[in-house]
Parts: sequence; structure tokens; C-alpha cells
Amino acid sequence: MAAAEIILADVRLPDGEIGDLRIAGGRIAEIGDGLVPLTGDAARVEAAGALVLPGLVDGHMHLDKTSTGTPWMPHQAGPDRMSRIETERTLRSSLPPVAERAANLVRLCIAHGTTAIRSHADVGPDIGISHVEALLEVRQRFAECVDIQIVAFPQYGVLRAPGTADLLAAALDAGADLLGGIDPIGIDGDLNGQLEILFSLADKKNVGVDIHLHDTGANGLSEIDAVTGRARSLGMQGRVTVSHGFCLGAAPEPVVAGLADAMATAGVSLVTHGGGASPLPPVKLLRARGVVVFAGNDDVRDPWSPYGEGDMLERAMLIAWRSGFRTDADLQVALDCASGAGKQALGMPASAIAVGDPAALFTVPAETPADAVARHPKRRLVLKQGRVVARDGVYAL
Ligand SMILES: [Zn+2]
Repeated sequence: MAAAEIILADVRLPDGEIGDLRIAGGRIAEIGDGLVPLTGDAARVEAAGALVLPGLVDGHMHLDKTSTGTPWMPHQAGPDRMSRIETERTLRSSLPPVAERAANLVRLCIAHGTTAIRSHADVGPDIGISHVEALLEVRQRFAECVDIQIVAFPQYGVLRAPGTADLLAAALDAGADLLGGIDPIGIDGDLNGQLEILFSLADKKNVGVDIHLHDTGANGLSEIDAVTGRARSLGMQGRVTVSHGFCLGAAPEPVVAGLADAMATAGVSLVTHGGGASPLPPVKLLRARGVVVFAGNDDVRDPWSPYGEGDMLERAMLIAWRSGFRTDADLQVALDCASGAGKQALGMPASAIAVGDPAALFTVPAETPADAVARHPKRRLVLKQGRVVARDGVYAL
């Protein structure tokens, strides 16, 4: 739906200048001082000197797992991954439907300035592709407020959970955008077995791959090497993502540098959530060698993690904090992970705050982009397709 004209008055542009934005046709039509409406139904919205930034990108989310919007539930799973998988299975039946919980979290994400999300959706023998179908419904519902990519995610493994390969194909046929995977060695015990299934299916269906790799040490490194090799040989430049890649945060620098060069050449990106107790891949080293490094919240208030409200500025701060970033330049690196690099990894056009760019943006009471990351204050306005979709930290549609 085409949005009416909006004059967003007295915004602080990313370079520090104060000015007005004319938003029309879903895009930034003009930037200047003292802009006046050109159409009768134009709305003037005061930004009161708040900083304006391009919309945030949550590049790794699990919308189907969240219990956002339901009463607080103390964390029940044990410390290992299998316990979390089993706990999730047990709790699932007592929670509201996936689409309802996912919608609750999507509203929060939008209210925090996120205009694009890549969410994994569990696929497995017990649930079939029902979670993918639920997220397709949510995507449709919020299509005017946020772009959602769906990854068909084999949470229980591919070989370890017979029938999953067929379900992944069915999920793609139903509308999932990408194919997921998980620890071919740690979960399936067969590096090439899982990757052969995933990459031949991705090639056949012409979709990208986004694979969870939590495995540490030599296993993790060999998985990244194998994923990168397959991406290169299939010519999947820009369409393959390694999620987490914790092993890159613990390996010797020359090893990481070598893998980073291979990832950059093959166009394999890395998404991180800054993972609490896990080694953090070296964000700046990877970027310096040409790897697209972007960010996502991962689990938000679910059986895996009690944390979060889907705030990508807070996530950028956490990644910056864990990376030891202090300078403005470094804080802007963290912001780029949560914004520009995310767009690149998701295959979206680059955009900034410039004439002609999509009006997918937010305002925040901060002095500079670095300040916005460091303090991540409540977002004042969020616009998508040229319409106000959230105001004062609350979803507005
Ligand atoms: Zn994940």
C-alpha cells in the first residue's frame, strides 16, 4: 500500500547535521531544511533532533521457538544441547500456537527498528513443516512492516532424524526461502553425508544455505572448510551463511585467516549473536579479509535462552562489548553488522539515509551512531515502506 507523504522534521542525520526528510512513495524523496508538504494529506512528524538511521536487520532469529508474550517461564533445560531440544519438545504443547508467539516477537522487533529478519523454522518428524507454515502466515501478516526470510531448519539433524530430508524439500516447496543445516559432525556424525543432502537439495531448488555450526575445534573448522568448498564449487557466491562458527573464535589466527580468505572468495558470510559462553569469531579480522559478518539475536525468550526482546541495537552493543570495541569506528562496525552487512547477506539492496533510498528507517535519541549502539535507547519512530509502523518503542499498526 502506497504511503502518504511524511515530512520528518528536525532529524539528526548520521553525519550530525540537522535537517528534514521528505518521505513519499515509500522512499526518501528529499533531504533539506524547512521542507513544506507538497500534498494535502501530508503528515508532519517531529523528530526533535533524534538521530535517524537505516532499518536494522536481524539476521538470525528463531521466531517459532519464542514464548514472547506469555508469562515468564524459568529456564528448565540442562546445560547441553540435547537437553534443550528435549525440553523444547516437552514445553511446546503447553504454549500458544507458533504463529501467535512469533507475531508477539515480530511486533517487538519492529518496535526496535528492525525492518528485515531471517528466521529459522524447525522442521522435523514430529512437527513436519508446521512451523514453516506458521511463519509463512506471520510473514504475510506483517508484510508491510518487515521483510522476513524463512530458513527450513533441521533442528534434530538430517540423517539422525529419518524423513527430515524430504520434509526440508517440502518446506522449500511450501515457501521457505533457504535451507538450514546443523553440525554435520556433532549432530549427524557424518560431515559429507549431511552436506551432500543439503547442497544437492539447495542446488536443485535454487535456494541459499544457512547452516548452524556450533561444533568446536577441529570438527568446526573442517565443517567450515567443507561448507566453503561446496559453496565455491556450486557457484553459490553470496548465498551461503555460516551461523555462529564458534570454532573461529578459538583457533590460531593464521588458521582463521586462511579460512576467512576461503570464505571471502566463495562468498560465504558469517552471522553471530555474540554467544554468551562460546568463543566469539573475530569480527574485525573476518571483515578485514572480506567476509560479510552480520548479526542476529538468535533465541529470544525461549527454551534455549531466557534473554532479550529482539533489539538489534542491544545485540550490536553485546557483540561490540564482547569484541572489546571502544572507539566510535569500532562501534560503527558493530552497527554495520546489525544493518548494512545484514542487508548484503540477505541479498537486499544497500540503503542509507539518502535521497532515493527506501524509507525503512528509525529514529533514536542519540548523538551519533556510536552513541546509539553504546546506549541503545528506546526507538522513537520506525518507518517501513514510508509509513510509521512503531512509535515510542511500541508497534503502531
Ligand atoms: Zn540459531
